[in-house]
Amino acid sequence: MANSLVNLTAHEARGMLDKREVSSVELTEATLERIEEVEDRVKAFVTVTRDLALEQAREADRRIAEGTSAPLTGIPMQLKDNMCTNGVPTTCSSRILEEFVPPYDATVTEKLRQDGAVLIGKGNLDEFAMGSSTENSAFFPTHNPWDLERVPGGSSGGPAAAVAAGEAFFSLGSDTGGSVRQPSSLCGIVGMKPTYGLVSRFGLIAFASSLDQIGPLTRDVRDSAIVLNAIAGHDPRDSTSIEFQPPDYTEALKPDLKGVRIGVPKEYFVDGMEPGVEDATRKAIDVMRSLGAEIGEASLPHTSYALAVYYIIAPSECSANLARYDGVKYGFSEQDAESMWDAYEKTRQRGFGPEVKRRIMLGTYSLSSGYYDAYYLKAQQVRTIIRQEFEEEFKKFDALVMPTSPSTAFKIGEKVDDPVQMYLNDVMTLPANIAGIPGISVPSGMSNGLPTGLQIMAKPLGEEAMLRVAYAYEQATDFQGTHGSPSL
Ligand code: GLN
Repeated sequence: MANSLVNLTAHEARGMLDKREVSSVELTEATLERIEEVEDRVKAFVTVTRDLALEQAREADRRIAEGTSAPLTGIPMQLKDNMCTNGVPTTCSSRILEEFVPPYDATVTEKLRQDGAVLIGKGNLDEFAMGSSTENSAFFPTHNPWDLERVPGGSSGGPAAAVAAGEAFFSLGSDTGGSVRQPSSLCGIVGMKPTYGLVSRFGLIAFASSLDQIGPLTRDVRDSAIVLNAIAGHDPRDSTSIEFQPPDYTEALKPDLKGVRIGVPKEYFVDGMEPGVEDATRKAIDVMRSLGAEIGEASLPHTSYALAVYYIIAPSECSANLARYDGVKYGFSEQDAESMWDAYEKTRQRGFGPEVKRRIMLGTYSLSSGYYDAYYLKAQQVRTIIRQEFEEEFKKFDALVMPTSPSTAFKIGEKVDDPVQMYLNDVMTLPANIAGIPGISVPSGMSNGLPTGLQIMAKPLGEEAMLRVAYAYEQATDFQGTHGSPSL
């Protein structure tokens, strides 16, 4: 890579800013140069905010000179394009919001702005975060920096690809069923879904409100803890936000696992899993044992129902959340209509892509009278059982480990016509959303030249235990830094 600055982690860049070895303007210019160099092949951004970034970088340099900086001051970062940014388009990678410029910031945007992080642009996603490959973006697919013919995962494919390709030091994604962890795994970086309610969702464009959570995509575990410090905390503007004073998550990062109890749920080693993924996971467990962890077998017998439960609950909530896009208040509006109903219909017909329509139809069906008990209510009951199974296992274990995704990155076009194959990508990640617990994906090696990911889950608000396991494992292996793709 011509430009070595863009390979640093955020905390390494921070160290250089503190020592005045580099300025935020230089970091930002280096990042913009990198974007110019690779973006026509990677396509990780819907919008690049060049002028705003340079302006924020100059401001960050002033703060650093004054000594009033925060840990992320001056660091160029990206936000997934479903998080509102005042004055900057927020499209959800959908035609229906193509022209939408929010008049306010999401809470996460505001927090990062106040900390002086530099917004370099908005990341591409599957339309409304529905998908696992970023091929459902209404604008263009994103390409995996490791192999440009492959998907980066999804729905936060733009964020994962940008961080892996050196186009942003970190990004934020949203995770409803795996959308931060799965693309992080496929792109060889670290992605965390915090506990439901730990990070405010105010200003995150809603997909499925009982599952959505915002989390960081970073190049190492320390950065993940630093970004979580910056965005976590109670927000009265989000009624699902937990009243909880978050600790300093970087204090949880210790190099050993002495006395840490780790469970390996047997149901997560499914048939059809790529052998390289299974192998990497087994080796990771050995590494954890050598670091002092006590390893035991865990069991979550209802795991096999999680996918079905998710694909009832998520579409149901999506059908309610997306009812607001009627072409009246904001977004695309079809003018060529004969009546109000005709305008609604044409706006939604032309504004939404096929996957979003599929979800709205599935959800509307499961919520309709006569079917509600059979589908939605039943799914909620199974959800409770899944949550209770996790609770039981967390009485015995501090953390659970398993693969993040059953396979490495697949080819663009390979699964796009088969929704069920696509949905199967999420089997290992969505139980954490169903149960509301935190999960993190860390690089665990390579299989056939592509990165694999290891997932670590903990009990609600167990981020410290989860980060400790992730960090100790990362420090004991050399997969960190495998980001920065050889093909670019
Ligand atoms: N791939 C899953 C879906 O399509 C999860 C998406 C997400 O987490 N936003 O629903």
